[in-house]
Amino acid sequence: MRTLQEAGHEASTCTKCRLSDGRTQVVYGTGNADADLMFIGEAPGFHEDKQGEPFVGAAGQLLNQLLAEIGIAREDVYINNTVNCRPPGNRDPLPDELDACKPWLDERVAIIDPAVVVTLGNWATRYILGKQVSISRVRGQRFPWSGRTVIPTFHPAAVLHGGGQASNQMTALRADFQEIRRALAERPQPAEEQLGLF
Ligand code: URA
Repeated sequence: MRTLQEAGHEASTCTKCRLSDGRTQVVYGTGNADADLMFIGEAPGFHEDKQGEPFVGAAGQLLNQLLAEIGIAREDVYINNTVNCRPPGNRDPLPDELDACKPWLDERVAIIDPAVVVTLGNWATRYILGKQVSISRVRGQRFPWSGRTVIPTFHPAAVLHGGGQASNQMTALRADFQEIRRALAERPQPAEEQLGLF
């Protein structure tokens, strides 16, 4: 398998769908290539398109805060989206755009091999689980997915728009991050780490 850097380099000139026409740059993903925890959001927004990194705007700040609250640094996880390029006017990605971008996401998941995948919001959750679920119903639960655990939670941007730090949604988001912490603690350890315990 090629490295994340090699894949990212190739993706940076991708023209497989119309989103390449309007983008400033490809927003491939960011973080630790060896991460146990991966976040999947919807699509790059204005700031992400300008800076070339996912979740750098207000939603990204909240994501960093929630990670810090469970003792994890942004640099230790991997953050990406269902599509690598900003849809015009932040519209939802279209089915053929998702199809075109799927091999890039599949390859990142295969290279990084995370134990826990957190889907942020209704959109990414439905896309990854392949079901028309409602985020309010499934958030904080664990779903098996290709030998990994998917935990859906609210999109940080939705929480910021829907009441912010003092809202019930924020309380739920915090509870879900505790569940993420527990799922990581319970993940199967590679053989050499297990040996280290004895
Ligand atoms: N919202 C997303 O879904 N993804 C980003 O990268 C930024 C905001």
